[in-house]
Amino acid sequence: MRNASTGPAHAPRSSQEQALLKRYFGYDDFRPLQADIIDSVMAGRDTVVLMPTGGGKSLCYQIPALALPGVTLVVSPLIALMKDQVDALKRNGVPADFLNSTQPREEQIRVQRAAFQGETKLLYVAPERIVQPGFQQFLNSLDISLVAVDEAHCISEWGHEFRPDYRNLRVLRDLCEGTPFIALTATATEQVREDIVAQLELRDPARFVASFDRPNLRYSVLPNSDRYDTLVAMLRDRPHGSAIIYRSSQKGTEALAADLVEDGIPAVPYHAGLPREMRAANQERFVRDEARVIVGTVAFGMGIDKPDVRLVVHYEMPASIERYYQESGRAGRDGLESDCVLFYGAGERERHNYHIDRMDPGPARESALTKLAAMNSYSHAPSCRRTVILRYFGEESGPLNCGACDVCMADTFDATMIAQKVLSAVIRTGERFGSSYVSQVLRGAKTRQTEERGHRSLSVYGIVDDFSDSGLRDVMSSLVSAGLLARTDGEYPTLTVTAKGREFLRDRDRIELPVFLGMKSPRRSADRTAEQAHDEFDVNLFEELRGLRTQVARNLGVPPYMVFGDAPLRDMARRYPQSEDSFLKISGVGRRKLADFGPAFLEVIRNYAETNGLKEHIPVRVESGQRPLAYTVEEKRQKHPRAYERWSDEEEDRLKYLHDKGLTVPEVAEQLGRQPSAIRSRLLRLGILQS
Ligand code: ADP
Ligand code: ZN
Repeated sequence: MRNASTGPAHAPRSSQEQALLKRYFGYDDFRPLQADIIDSVMAGRDTVVLMPTGGGKSLCYQIPALALPGVTLVVSPLIALMKDQVDALKRNGVPADFLNSTQPREEQIRVQRAAFQGETKLLYVAPERIVQPGFQQFLNSLDISLVAVDEAHCISEWGHEFRPDYRNLRVLRDLCEGTPFIALTATATEQVREDIVAQLELRDPARFVASFDRPNLRYSVLPNSDRYDTLVAMLRDRPHGSAIIYRSSQKGTEALAADLVEDGIPAVPYHAGLPREMRAANQERFVRDEARVIVGTVAFGMGIDKPDVRLVVHYEMPASIERYYQESGRAGRDGLESDCVLFYGAGERERHNYHIDRMDPGPARESALTKLAAMNSYSHAPSCRRTVILRYFGEESGPLNCGACDVCMADTFDATMIAQKVLSAVIRTGERFGSSYVSQVLRGAKTRQTEERGHRSLSVYGIVDDFSDSGLRDVMSSLVSAGLLARTDGEYPTLTVTAKGREFLRDRDRIELPVFLGMKSPRRSADRTAEQAHDEFDVNLFEELRGLRTQVARNLGVPPYMVFGDAPLRDMARRYPQSEDSFLKISGVGRRKLADFGPAFLEVIRNYAETNGLKEHIPVRVESGQRPLAYTVEEKRQKHPRAYERWSDEEEDRLKYLHDKGLTVPEVAEQLGRQPSAIRSRLLRLGILQS
């Protein structure tokens, strides 16, 4: 067994793995967590990985598979995905194969022989195979270096996708005595995670939990009053890139797809009621970029792995945040900026209640109600959408302003005073009441309750006159989201002040909250110019390259993303590589793709550069153009330290000075080490900028 872990604590990672990463996948750097996970696996340790979709789980076992001497066995539940994954690996020159029941017998024999002769580095198998006696014999004959269990939550009955077949994997543990296991999943509660460890009999595994945050996703909630027109406008706004639209009814998917087609937008429906062949054909058209839009029910999504979905729209509100997170999470798997839009309006909650009312009383019904309440508050609370999601999954909130949701992109105001008043009122009234009563006290309501409870003599009675009742309650919701207040569950929720809230009062901290319900266009991204500059590329060249990609993919009979993803194409359209050496420096271009596709793409780039008089622009080391996706919760907190920091008078003076000097908002942001959105809102408040 190798032991990469015996070096000094911060020894540079083996350059072998780094070289494999560039050679086969075309990337320069591991993401922070990937590197640690790979170290753990290479050290021969059992490892459990929880990382959100798009976080880069696959490389965590694919790189070790390439580095280790024998074959890596990958257990994966979906036969359709297995073929895609293996095809994509082969396109990168990685010797990979799969075994499942859909293959003809001769093919199975070929695959087994190749594995036996050590030609295969990664062998994907379906879980039901494991218990077949002949198969175990075959496994015994192999030199297995690593066992990777993908979608590991399927092994747990506590998870929402339990697959009894996964229980067979225990047999593997006995068969592969001494071989390290790595279990990976994107969705697991702590309970499920521990169940994975127990079921697979992992030995003192290293555990890696990435943040659930998907920084490249922008969340917005829009009113559903004229959602069709809004949707069409959004799709026309972004003429490229695929979109998934979720609807709650089968009929709805067909009607909406038909309307879109009539409006000249290529769309196909998908739901469990369609004939099997038609479902498959529609999905295929979507994956191959022939239909830009797929309109589906929840039945859509399992077993597709399209990385370049730029927009996921929920035409109706889903029943829980879990669902919403999972479905909206199909956007931007390639790490590029993508939008998640939810249409919401009065009646959405009632629609769900109607179904819940028909459930038998009991824990299932209670749980459905709690989940619905959380989803509903995501949809209408005027607080950072990302924070709501992350808190729901038990993560401490990061910066109060994420800068990439409709609420945070709207303006904020200094809520220090009002927050102090609210928190004091909650404490003074004994932390026994809900928001409407606290609001009564603060606004000095002459109600029977305030009289009877003797609250009229409190110092906080009637100290708020600049907020309406609903405004005050919005403030309280925001304070709950910000973690300063906590709200109990149940029919009569009461408010309490959290430890963080007490600290806030004690330290006289300042706080900013969103000004109003975030009903803004998701395209409104004036605050994000700095990031966009980093993401800028030559749109015309990108279009030409996309065209070439479609053509090449069609000739090969593969989905376009398997030729190149959007990220490498953008990188090409940013740097105009003109030689093979330069082409290889593009993020996402490995040796094999250089050989297969380099000549055709280089020709287009050279012609374009010549016609437009452009030079290549290849820095010594190319950045991937992507922000790392897999931060740990701790890293995330460190990422925007200044978002927590309050403004001092000196800093404000410096802001005014830099602004007067004519620096742009992103430039000022850079100088002060703050987010552009924070600069903008400060300038607005100082009355220097007009909204
Ligand atoms: P997951 O299985 O966690 O959903 P994937 O393994 O499919 O995620 O990776 C998501 C995307 O990120 C893919 O397009 C992949 O090529 C890309 N990616 C993964 N690791 C890196 C890296 N170190 N540098 C750049 N891109 C990466
Ligand atoms: Zn936000």
